[in-house]
Amino acid sequence: MQKAKAFKLFINGKWLDSASGKTFPSDNPAKPRQILGLFQKGDEQDVAEAVNAADEASKKWSETPAPKRGAILLKAAQLLRQNKEKLARQVTMEMGKILSEARGDVQEAIDITEYMAGEGRRLLGFTTPSELRKKFCMTIRMPIGICGLITPWNFPTAIPAWKIMTALICGNTVVFKPSSDTPLCATRLVETLQQAGLPKGVSNMVTGSGEEAGMSLVRNDRVRAISFTGHRETGTSILKEAGLKRVGLEMGGKNGIIIMDDADLDLALDGVIWGAYGTTGQRCTATSRIIVHEKIKTKFEKMLLNRIRRLRLGDGLNPETDVASLINRAAQEKSSRYVELGKKEGAKLLIGGKIPKMEGYFFEPTLFTDCTIDMRITQEEIFGPVLSLIPAKDLDQAIDIMNSIEYGLSSAIYTKDIAKAFEAITRIEAGLTYVNSSTIGSEIHLPFGGIKHTGIGAREAGIEGINEFSETKTVYIDYSGKLQKAQIDLD
Ligand code: NAD
Repeated sequence: MQKAKAFKLFINGKWLDSASGKTFPSDNPAKPRQILGLFQKGDEQDVAEAVNAADEASKKWSETPAPKRGAILLKAAQLLRQNKEKLARQVTMEMGKILSEARGDVQEAIDITEYMAGEGRRLLGFTTPSELRKKFCMTIRMPIGICGLITPWNFPTAIPAWKIMTALICGNTVVFKPSSDTPLCATRLVETLQQAGLPKGVSNMVTGSGEEAGMSLVRNDRVRAISFTGHRETGTSILKEAGLKRVGLEMGGKNGIIIMDDADLDLALDGVIWGAYGTTGQRCTATSRIIVHEKIKTKFEKMLLNRIRRLRLGDGLNPETDVASLINRAAQEKSSRYVELGKKEGAKLLIGGKIPKMEGYFFEPTLFTDCTIDMRITQEEIFGPVLSLIPAKDLDQAIDIMNSIEYGLSSAIYTKDIAKAFEAITRIEAGLTYVNSSTIGSEIHLPFGGIKHTGIGAREAGIEGINEFSETKTVYIDYSGKLQKAQIDLD
């Protein structure tokens, strides 16, 4: 068997072994015996080195004119575009996504890199009149400092790019801790920035476990901001440990689609299949609940079953594949556990529910019906291809069901009635609502993120991403030549 290639940490512009010398493998979830590389198991010492490097680079980078920072990002975007196909194949191999979705992941990384390159010529503050004469008021953007970026595996180039490119254009330096399930994709992204000419120390990467490398970053006092995407439980422990840092958390979802009795059912069917089984249900925005008007429930169940039966499982590189593997054995076991739970709770299993006899971490596309909101399968994030159908008697009840969860990320409604669509838009508790489209898919110039247990405060991407990674300074310039006091000198 060929020996797996060893990859390194990236600190201060150099590729280094971890202080402990320990490594971990990254495999192909569709063919777990295929090891894609060995990666350094960074720990507190490596994180401290990376923070030192980020600190040293900070002054010069923050003083580099933002359009010049943007020019480096533009070069990185060009390199990503040139390597798009190669990178997409790596995404497929390392996380199992089907190739067309992997291309989408890389495209999103390119898009955000280009967008943030353009932000280098904007980074807008605002001016506004003063209440006093001969006084000028404005806001400017300032970098935060060293940003710790902790990312999940399910968008292995896009989510790291959202965070890294936004942090960099705002003049911050970064220490990036990618998921241990996708360190190869992370390494390629960091290499691209190096090739684009990013100065040493501005972007550093420490691979390793969340408990060691991730937590060391969270606890490091010189790190001024943490931007995290991952499970709610991980985010909760990060919040407890971060101290007085700025913390952005993007966490799980339990996203639903409402299908009204006037909906175009063929359109809704496409949306549900893509939302529930696209990326094998492993998107934070994946559809895991459908709330169907009771008048069309039986008809829609039949339509769903017809389509699910035809979904082909397989390697994401095979163009015939509709549903690829899950990320790892733990994810496979989690889906199995929830199927057993659903059966015990009294939900009716219509199709799927098993681990197929195939090499790799596959799971059958699964559909439960006659579910209720008190069942754990309708409340908890499964992050696999397991969909629950809940009947509703009208729009009011459907919206109540939609909102009866702790999460608040994505949502959708299928209806031809504009009034019903607006009721849903204004009453659903979620960061995203789609009308006549699925819960998944986002565009990088629009804000992305959730409410309730999905996220606290910050939104990523677009202009709101800039808010996450910059400080706003308020500036007052008094040119009256005398002391003027707001609120006191009233004439
Ligand atoms: P995870 O929480 O297991 O890991 C995310 C990252 O946190 C990894 O880099 C991991 O190593 C690190 N980590 C783990 N424990 C840590 C600790 N104690 N301290 C610091 N860092 C730690 O999540 P995952 O399995 O990689 O990703 C799946 C989750 O991410 C799902 O819940 C999904 O909904 C969520 N997600 C959310 C969004 C969003 O924008 N809301 C987007 C994608 C994924």
